[in-house]
Parts: sequence; C-alpha cells; structure tokens
Amino acid sequence: MIDRQIQRMLDDIETEAQYTRKMIGKNAFDPGVMAVMSKTPRNEFVPNTYLDAAFDNGPLPIGHGQTISQPYIVALMTDLLELEADHIVLEIGTGSGYQTAILSQLCKKVYTIEYIPVLADAANARLQRLGYHNIESMTGNGYDGWPEHAPYDGIIVTAAASHIPQPLIDQLKPGGRLVIPVGRPHLYQELMLVDKDADGEVNIKQVLGVAFVPLQGEHD
Ligand code: SAH
Repeated sequence: MIDRQIQRMLDDIETEAQYTRKMIGKNAFDPGVMAVMSKTPRNEFVPNTYLDAAFDNGPLPIGHGQTISQPYIVALMTDLLELEADHIVLEIGTGSGYQTAILSQLCKKVYTIEYIPVLADAANARLQRLGYHNIESMTGNGYDGWPEHAPYDGIIVTAAASHIPQPLIDQLKPGGRLVIPVGRPHLYQELMLVDKDADGEVNIKQVLGVAFVPLQGEHD
C-alpha cells in the first residue's frame, strides 16, 4: 500500500519536473536524489490527521503555522545543491525534519536550525528514532547561520527571505551552493541558486516561482 503511494509520489515529482524543465534546466532530477526520495517515509513526518495525504505532491500543515514542503520542491532544492558524499550542509528551517532526512542520506553531515523550539525538539526526536544519525540540530535564528561549523558545501533555506542573508553567503565554501526562496512573505518568491566560485565570487540565478512560509527574525 505504502509502496504504491510512494511510487505515485515519485511519478508526480517526475511529471512536475518535466513541466518545469525550462526553468530548472533539466528534464529529470538526479537518480540519487530520487532514490533517497523513494526510501524516506514521508508518512513519519506528517501529523496523524494528514496521514492519508502523506505521499501527495503538496505541502501539509505541521502546526504552529508551518508546513512540510511539497515533495517536488524538496527534490528540486536537494538536486540544486549537487551534494557529494563528503559534503557538509547547513539547513535553515528544520520544520518536520523531512528535508533534513533527505539531505542526510546524500552527504556527510547536516547541521539544521529551527526557530520554533517545539518543532525543533519534535524533529530532533523523530530523526533520532528513524535512525538518521549524521544530523546536528539547534534551536535558534538561522539568519545568522551556524558559524562554528562553517564553511559549508551547501546551504538550504526552507523559509522565505526578503533578501539573501549575508552571514549565509559568508559561511558558504568557495565552490559551494546556496538555495533560498527570496521575495514577499506568504505571497510569491523566486527560488534562487547562489554559487560561490573558487575565487569567492558570488553568482545568483533565479530558478522558479515558489511559495514558502516566512523566514522569521530577519535583520541586516
Ligand atoms: N523543510 C521543512 C520546512 C518547514 S517550513 C519541512 O519540509 O518540514 C519552514 C520552517 O522554517 C518552519 O519550521 C519555521 O519555523 C522555520 N523558520 C522560520 N524562520 C526561521 C529562522 N530564522 N531560523 C530557523 N528556522 C526558521
């Protein structure tokens, strides 16, 4: 039963990737990313009331006004990071921990920051219980990044920012990639891919229109 639901979710992600191929610059996501999407139990990350919709290709409420991201968006953002087995990744916006679990299976270590303490605690306990052990989590304001473990090969922000936080650019390794939705909270944002080249020069590319919950605690 669950296998069939997961297969439908993977098919829906593939269909949406094809629809958006002009924006994302490819027809399909990396097979390694899709393999991890296929073996990560999204049903464990959604509230019981939404179990029936756990494998739908849409966001779902997780309480406290927050959401678990749409599977296609999780696959897209993960794909954009081009992760390798020895990479160290910083995630801002742990939420349910679903994106964290996906990342952790494609790199060496994930540091993840969540603003809302009860969500951070629940996600941390869930990730431990499910056996994802290469993750360190913290409650706090991800706007400032996590300087102690910088620089990062990849940084992912899963809440909408009004601008790209300078601390995150500073904490990106040369050759590293940052994926972040930038725009007006609750309305419409552009998913941005920021890459820092070997000389430390930063390039920014718009990928796709998206809708995320707001990044809280922004400052300059
Ligand atoms: N990737 C998560 C998305 C959760 S929604 C998932 O798929 O479950 C975005 C999350 O970002 C929310 O949990 C919200 O509380 C958190 N958030 C918002 N502002 C933040 C900040 N400044 N630092 C860290 N987390 C933040």
